[in-house]
Amino acid sequence: MAIGYVALLTIGAYTASVLTAGTVMAPMGAFPALGLAAVAGAFFGVIVGLPALRLRTFYFAMTTLGFATIVTQITLAWQEVTGGGIGIPGPALPAPLDTAWGFYYFCLGAAVVCTWATANLAHSRFGRALVAIRDSEVAAEASGIDKPRMLILVFILAGALAAFAGGLFASLQTYITPDAFTFDLSLLFFIAVLIGGRGSILGPLLGTIVLTLLPEVAAPLAAWSTFLYAALLLVIVLAIPGGIAALLDRSNRLPLPENRAIQPRAEALAPLLGRPEGRNPEARSPEVPETMTLTGIVLAFGGVRAIDGVDLAVRQGQVHGLIGPNGSGKTTTLNVISGYYRPEAGRMAIGGVVLPPGAPVGRAARGIARTYQTPRLIGEASVLQNVMIGASIEGTASFVEALLSLPRHRADERNMAARARLALAAVGIAGLAEVRADRLQHSELRFMEIARALMLKPAFLLLDEPAAGLSVEEIKRLGALIKAVSRQGIGVLLVEHHADLIFDICDQVTVLNLGKVLAAGTPAEIRVHKEVVSAYLGG
Ligand code: ADP
Ligand code: MG
Repeated sequence: MAIGYVALLTIGAYTASVLTAGTVMAPMGAFPALGLAAVAGAFFGVIVGLPALRLRTFYFAMTTLGFATIVTQITLAWQEVTGGGIGIPGPALPAPLDTAWGFYYFCLGAAVVCTWATANLAHSRFGRALVAIRDSEVAAEASGIDKPRMLILVFILAGALAAFAGGLFASLQTYITPDAFTFDLSLLFFIAVLIGGRGSILGPLLGTIVLTLLPEVAAPLAAWSTFLYAALLLVIVLAIPGGIAALLDRSNRLPLPENRAIQPRAEALAPLLGRPEGRNPEARSPEVPETMTLTGIVLAFGGVRAIDGVDLAVRQGQVHGLIGPNGSGKTTTLNVISGYYRPEAGRMAIGGVVLPPGAPVGRAARGIARTYQTPRLIGEASVLQNVMIGASIEGTASFVEALLSLPRHRADERNMAARARLALAAVGIAGLAEVRADRLQHSELRFMEIARALMLKPAFLLLDEPAAGLSVEEIKRLGALIKAVSRQGIGVLLVEHHADLIFDICDQVTVLNLGKVLAAGTPAEIRVHKEVVSAYLGG
C-alpha cells in the first residue's frame, strides 16, 4: 500500500506544466507534455517502488510518504523552474478540449480506458501474481513468479497513470502551487480505496465518487467535512471491513454445494499433465525417467544442524516417502530442494545437472512443484484463481498484451482456466471452483494446493504432510491420487506422518532422525528395520 501516491500526481502536474510553460526549454504542446509527464511518472514510480522489494506494509507506506514530502519541498524550492510558492500555469488543452464539457469528456474517456486496462490486468496472470506476492510470497516464488519484475512493471504502470492524471489535474486547475498537493489529498486516495475495498476495481471507483460528491452535497457543512470523512471511515472499517466491494461480492455469500465429498478423478491427470493417453496406465512413465539427487546436504540454524549430511534420490514415476519424528528436518529438506534455503554444504541435481542453491524462483522452470505443511492460499481469490497461479510461468502474452486484452492474452486465460478446471477435477473439488478460497475446509485446501502444484506439469512434486487433518476416507483417496500422479511419470517426494499411507503407496522410503538419514530402502525393508522400529514406529 502506497500512501504517498500524491507524489506521482505532483510530478506529473509539474512536468506537464513546466514543459508547456517553457521555464526550462522552448514551450511544447499540451499532449506531448502530458506524454512526457507519464514517462516521468513511470520512472519515478519505479524509484518510489524500489523499497517495496525489501519493506512490507507500513514500512513501505512510510517511505512513500517520505517521498511525497521530498517532492513537495523540491517544487517549493526550485523556484526558477516550478515558480516556487507562486506557482506555474497548468497546460492548456487545444480546442475542442478547452471547454468545460470538452475537458470533462476527455477525462471521462481517459478514466474509462484506464479502468478497462486495470481490470484487464487484474484478470491476467500478472494481476494474480501480484495478489499472490501480497498474500503468500513463498507460494508465489515456488510457482515461478518473479517478484522484482512484477513490482517494477506495476509501479511503471501506476506511476505513468498517476502522472498523466496529475497533468490533467494541473490543466483543470489552470494554475498550480505546491499547496494543491497536500497530505490530505494523499489520504483521500487512501480512504477511497478503504471505502471501496482493496482488490476490487469497481469498489474504489465508487469510493472516489462518494468522496468527491460528499463535499458538494455537504457544502453547508463545510466546517464539518473532516469530521464527516472520519465518521464515514469509521463506519466502513467497523461495519464492512471489505468496503463497498464486499457488499457487491456475491460469490462470498453463495451457498456452498451440499455434497462436498472430495472425489479425485485420476483420468483427468493425463490431459492435465499433457501426457499421451497410454493403453496400459501402469506403463505411462516417461521414456527415460530422471532422478533428483541430494548429496551431503548440510544446513544449520544458529548452532542447530537441522539437516546434517542428507543423501536422497527421487526417481520420476515413483513415490518416495520421507518420514521421521517432528523436528528431524523433513520440511527443511523440502525447503532446500525448492531453493528457499541455501545449504552450507552438499549439492542437488536433476538428471546430473546441478541446480543453483537458494534460488526459489527458478525451481518452477526446472519442474519442481510443492505444497506446504500449512496450506498457502490467497484467501480473497476464488479457488479457480488460486489454482491458476500454478500456471503463471506458462503464459505467453506480455504485460502490455494483458493490459490491452489482446488475443494472445485471451487465449492464455482460456487455456489456464480450462487446465485449472481439469486440475480441480483431478483432485476432486471441481464443484468449488468459484468459491472464495478462505471458505474452504482444511482438507479441501490441501487438495487445492495439490491442484495448484499440478498446474506446473511438474517433473517432481514435493508434498509436505498432505494427509494431516484429513479423515480416514480422505487419506485413502489422497493415497490413490498421489499414486496415480506418480504413474504419470512424476517423481513424488512425500513427507508424511501416517505410516499406513507411506507403506501403502511408496516405492522407496527414507527415514530421517535428527537431520541424518537413519535408514533408506523399500517399505518392506523399512518396516522391519530395527532402529526405525524402535526409534520411530514404536514397536
Ligand atoms: P520436520 O519438518 O521434520 O518436523 P523441520 O525441518 O521443520 O522438521 O525442522 C528441523 C529442525 O530445524 C527443528 O529443530 C526446527 O526447530 C529447526 N528449524 C526449522 N526451520 C527453522 C528456522 N527457520 N529457524 C530456526 N530453526 C529452524
Ligand atoms: Mg515439517
